[in-house]
Amino acid sequence: IWQINDPLSQVSQLSAQVQSAFAALGRIFTMLNEEEEDQGGEKHVAKDRMKGTVTFDHVQFGYGKDLLMKDVNMDVKSGQMVAIVGPTGAGKSTLMNLLLRFYDVKGGSIKVDGVDIRDMPREELRSMFSLVLQDTWLFKGSIYENIRYGRLDARKDEVIGAAKMANVHHFIRTLSHGYDSLINEEANNISQGEKQLLTIARAILKDPQILILDEATSSVDTRLEKMLQEAMQRVMEGRTSFVIAHRLSTIRDADLILVLKDGDIVEQGTHEELLEKKGMYEKLYHSQFAGQNFDEMD
Ligand code: ADP
Repeated sequence: IWQINDPLSQVSQLSAQVQSAFAALGRIFTMLNEEEEDQGGEKHVAKDRMKGTVTFDHVQFGYGKDLLMKDVNMDVKSGQMVAIVGPTGAGKSTLMNLLLRFYDVKGGSIKVDGVDIRDMPREELRSMFSLVLQDTWLFKGSIYENIRYGRLDARKDEVIGAAKMANVHHFIRTLSHGYDSLINEEANNISQGEKQLLTIARAILKDPQILILDEATSSVDTRLEKMLQEAMQRVMEGRTSFVIAHRLSTIRDADLILVLKDGDIVEQGTHEELLEKKGMYEKLYHSQFAGQNFDEMD
């Protein structure tokens, strides 16, 4: 649940659509065991073949009868970091909703490790992913349980190890009940950035093939910012990552930048390639220097 009343968060700056898209994403994702109409096919990717490659091949999609995405193509190799940029409403969350199969494409196909995602069991598809969203992603319960949710059979030392990797162990130790602190009761003591570190710890514990990260837009202090950047780099290391990116440094480092507008990818490539094109990305990039956020650009 988005904490819209939290004055520290800048959630109110985001559009209602983005909020509902991610809220829906979180809600559905946590109800994995609930009956869904179509559980998917029976095709499996062998464990040792799971590399996290992602292909969109002439994907078409719309929520209603009008098409939002008319022709989306991408080819993401194992371990690549993909930055998704574009104005609010451009289709960034929709792209991720499709990849996780919350909605089916209306044309074309999406493949993970060479298998059409409609042909594999839905649960198996989602087991390959971790989501690092903001505080939407924590549930009522202790910090320990929230991290362990990444892998329910993890041992205590593994949970603590993941927290250390995510730069959040020391913070947890400062709370009066440490790992037993309850998220709901002590939520006021936990900032947005720290909550994101907790979700990173959970992802590290899960060790998925593919990550989806929503970079925090709320301002955090410099120290926390540094810890977040470092934790994000650690969790992305060696696995395919999609980052809904707001920070210029993340975008610049990406192996592939997808620039979205009105549902479609209008440009893709590396930072250098896209600057050379002198198209929309270049405009976004220069507006960022003018102090504007990437997402605020239309
Ligand atoms: P972004 O994440 O880039 O802000 P979205 O993917 O949330 O963009 O939205 C893309 C478009 O799809 C917007 O026009 C939005 O209004 C619309 N949209 C998003 N989610 C839904 C939904 N569940 N039902 C209908 N329209 C939606």
